[in-house]
Amino acid sequence: MSTPTGFMEITRQLPADRDPVERIKDWEEFHLHLSDEELRSQGARCMDCGTPYCHTGMELSGGASGCPVNNLIPEWNNLIYRDQWRDALDRLHKTNNFPEFTGRVCPAPCEGACTVGLIGSPVTIKNIENSIIERGFDEGWVVPQPPFERTGKRVAIVGSGPAGLAAAAQLNKAGHEVTVYERADRIGGLLMYGIPTMKLDKKVVERRVQILEAEGVKFVTNTEIGKDIPSQQLVDEFDAVVLCGGATKPREFNIEGRELKGVHYAMDYLNGTIKSYLDSNLEDGNYISAKDQDVIVIGGGDTGTDCVATALRHGCRSVTQFGTHTKAPLTRDSIANPWPQFPNVYTLDYAQEEAKALYGNDPREFSIMTTRFASDEEGNVKELHTVQIERIVDETGRKIYQPIPGTERVFPASLVLIAIGFDGPESTLVDQLKLEQDRRSNVKAEYGKYQTSAEKVFAAGDMRRGQSLVVWAINEGREAAREVDKFLMGSSLLP
Ligand SMILES: Cc1cc2nc3c(=O)[nH]c(=O)nc-3n(C[C@H](O)[C@H](O)[C@H](O)COP(=O)(O)OP(=O)(O)OC[C@H]3O[C@@H](n4cnc5c(N)ncnc54)[C@H](O)[C@@H]3O)c2cc1C
Ligand code: SF4
Repeated sequence: MSTPTGFMEITRQLPADRDPVERIKDWEEFHLHLSDEELRSQGARCMDCGTPYCHTGMELSGGASGCPVNNLIPEWNNLIYRDQWRDALDRLHKTNNFPEFTGRVCPAPCEGACTVGLIGSPVTIKNIENSIIERGFDEGWVVPQPPFERTGKRVAIVGSGPAGLAAAAQLNKAGHEVTVYERADRIGGLLMYGIPTMKLDKKVVERRVQILEAEGVKFVTNTEIGKDIPSQQLVDEFDAVVLCGGATKPREFNIEGRELKGVHYAMDYLNGTIKSYLDSNLEDGNYISAKDQDVIVIGGGDTGTDCVATALRHGCRSVTQFGTHTKAPLTRDSIANPWPQFPNVYTLDYAQEEAKALYGNDPREFSIMTTRFASDEEGNVKELHTVQIERIVDETGRKIYQPIPGTERVFPASLVLIAIGFDGPESTLVDQLKLEQDRRSNVKAEYGKYQTSAEKVFAAGDMRRGQSLVVWAINEGREAAREVDKFLMGSSLLP
């Protein structure tokens, strides 16, 4: 245990973020860091409880509770407190291949389940995780570790997001020859094209990819399986195939005016900006610009929030974010949302904090639904017509949104970004391999087993689970690797 009474004596501390008005002038990460001494005392707040809910990842009421990769949190908190950083790093790598990703972008369900959080503020787990891995890189402790011997088995992985990378890292560790196919020009999936640079610097992704390459993983970019290489050819040529293609089919929003100029999918907007930034520091102009635009983002989730932050950096005139959900309470509702569930409380995410600092208010509109887009004479979107909504239970017992009469409003807009979610994986691989799908159209494969309806073919990450979190993708990639290893070798030593 760190200290028996640390949680009573020391208050929770988070590193400061860069000034919101300053940071929107660039595309750099916005988090700053705590000193080693501050981290040590934060580690001392961990009470090493008998049943550490923080590291017991599970789904509760539709959300994550505790750490989905089962990070050994109390152990590394204690090691940090004792200044044993190298041991803390080894302990962290036992359960998580990529703590530098989760340490930056994970919503930290571990902190929502921390026992100290029952009576006060939880331990700053996510920040300690990121500090351990960054210290590891700074000290030169994170080095390629190729396997001692090869098994002669060949595994193809389709998709290079966190699920594909985690599966590749583990299968390579087991001695298999791993090839990762990616249709984009850069490796990383949504870590590269999706999550903006200010949340996750792309050099951090490339740094890890270089280690995997040095360990022996082969990466093939600009190659779409199903188009450039027929899916069945991959199955025939490899001993096993792991599908980690994500859930990238955008959910349509078929309302009047959807076809107007200036109405785009969020991912086209975000990815164009990231690619142009990486290719040319935005000088090639190959992206949808929000400069001087009145922007409305439809969708209250992570993707919508990233659109708000990106629009601010483009220099938009105004930005508003619509969500169908109600405004969350300021403190956890202990009856409807008890510990250790993920706490549903009102907070300002980085983008909303930035918009508030610039324009004076939270850019979000809650419990709102867009009913139609209206245009000017040239077919450009000009305004959005909306109505407030409430959630009711209909006569069949289903929860549905119902418009509230008399609450109609009109919002001027010249750029609209649709970020209302995803409808499962794209159909090419599914159709070519005749894969069974679940009722949400994801590839059907039991959690923990990952075997699809096709022989030798496994599926993991968003492609199996639906759009989710980086940490779940890492969890599934690791577990799928173990199942593939068992399939190939009869047993497995992988965790
Ligand atoms: C804008 C945005 C922001 C997000 N922010 C966060 C966040 O802050 N924190 C968090 O935890 N989660 C976040 N998420 C969710 C998270 O990124 C995903 O859950 C996670 O990346 C899923 O990993 P994956 O490996 O399953 O799939 P993906 O990351 O989607 O990777 C799939 C890859 O497969 C490739 N591919 C698909 N089909 C083929 C094919 N036929 N041939 C070759 N390649 C193919 C795709 O090009 C893609 O690169 C965010 C998602 C989005 C969209
Ligand atoms: S991966 Fe996420 S849930 Fe797990 S310890 Fe890190 S921040 Fe917490």
